[in-house]
Amino acid sequence: MSAPASRYRGRFAPSPTGPLHFGSLVSALASWLDARAHDGAWLVRVEDIDGPRTVPGAAQDILATLEHFGFHADEPPVWQSARIGLYREALDALIASGHVYPCGCTRKEIADSQLHAHRRNTTLIYPGTCRDGLHGKTARAWRLRVPDDLAHAAQGADNPALIRFDDRWQGPQQQDLANEVGDFVLLRADGQWAYQLAVVVDDAAQDITHIVRGADLLDSTARQIWLQQCLNVPTPTYLHVPVVTNAEGEKLSKQTGAQPLDASRPLDALLAAAKHLGLDLRDPTPASLVAFQADAIEAWKRRLTHLPA
Ligand code: GLU
Repeated sequence: MSAPASRYRGRFAPSPTGPLHFGSLVSALASWLDARAHDGAWLVRVEDIDGPRTVPGAAQDILATLEHFGFHADEPPVWQSARIGLYREALDALIASGHVYPCGCTRKEIADSQLHAHRRNTTLIYPGTCRDGLHGKTARAWRLRVPDDLAHAAQGADNPALIRFDDRWQGPQQQDLANEVGDFVLLRADGQWAYQLAVVVDDAAQDITHIVRGADLLDSTARQIWLQQCLNVPTPTYLHVPVVTNAEGEKLSKQTGAQPLDASRPLDALLAAAKHLGLDLRDPTPASLVAFQADAIEAWKRRLTHLPA
């Protein structure tokens, strides 16, 4: 266990884009078990800043489902939509320290530039056009500079753009921000705060020490660690659990047709989530949520001893 038990603070941070489904239940269960196994605090944060994707009523529905499934947060939930002032303050600090710059490029211009550069999956890697000024364009978004690796290439020194971290489930990870990601957006052209900024600011403001979430977010972690360094806030430890996929191998989500959880049978869904996490429960047919929880906490502790340090 990497942090003193009394300091552990974990969280579950759902985006209210629809009701809780089996994939998000797995993340909720893993984060809750890890907090309980460490005798720590477990918080819930509603990540509702992405206006167009937020579904009215979904947040209340998720919070009610969590309670119904036996997940009781140790502090009242916080809502990102009520915390915009914190994101503004963080951006202002990054402007003052020169870590961010205004960008006037449209998506089309960035896409066109990729003909001469490279592309990662479907993510456009920003070529840095506005790094040294707007070239007469109007500012649309704010981007965070990632370290460039020129010094590394020239001198064979350590690549400053290479972010490494040890994931408690997935093992050692690394990502070259300059070549695999590029300068990324913190405040979007449509005025929306980017997930990367909000999540880092909130995890720091809430003193989160341990992040446990789905492995679909593994790819965002290096960006978040770099942003923590730019903001001079601590880096939590990370644990990314395997994502749940559907028959086509796609991550379960509202977009891929995930069904809402059956609220009448919480234990069935929890047992399936525990199985997905590879938990070796002593009692496969628990009589109550409380019995399941006690068994699952011990199974989680046993499971962690078999994971990379
Ligand atoms: N809100 C994000 C999601 O639902 C999770 C953010 C996080 O855990 O860092 O995918």
